[in-house]
Amino acid sequence: MEFLEPSGPGRPGRRPGSIDYRLNRRRVLRSFRAGEVAENEICDAQSELLRVAVSCSEPAREPCPVCDDQSLRIVRFVFGPRLPKGGRAVSSRNELRRLAERAGEHRCYEVEVCPRCRWNHLRETYPLERSA
Ligand SMILES: [Zn+2]
Repeated sequence: MEFLEPSGPGRPGRRPGSIDYRLNRRRVLRSFRAGEVAENEICDAQSELLRVAVSCSEPAREPCPVCDDQSLRIVRFVFGPRLPKGGRAVSSRNELRRLAERAGEHRCYEVEVCPRCRWNHLRETYPLERSA
């Protein structure tokens, strides 16, 4: 899925095996504020992603970086054995934990989505860890 494609190489994140795309996010937003990128190029969430953002997500702690609306959402998609090819949208940390207990490797993609202006950006990907 397009919105899960990173806009550039990420950096190792804080948790083991994670990749952090916040630097890309800052770069995209800087280009937008400098007028090098149009809003419709970065605020292009597809209807499916918007639907998931409304129905299966968590509120972000910060406002939307583009329109400053407070409705920014965090959507998590988990990929792994016996999950749909497009990943499964997971709304709660409990469900993440349950998936982590399953056999096989699972990887979570976190995308921020603004239902108001359709801004969307991949924030981080990380392996789901079994709790010891
Ligand atoms: Zn917005």
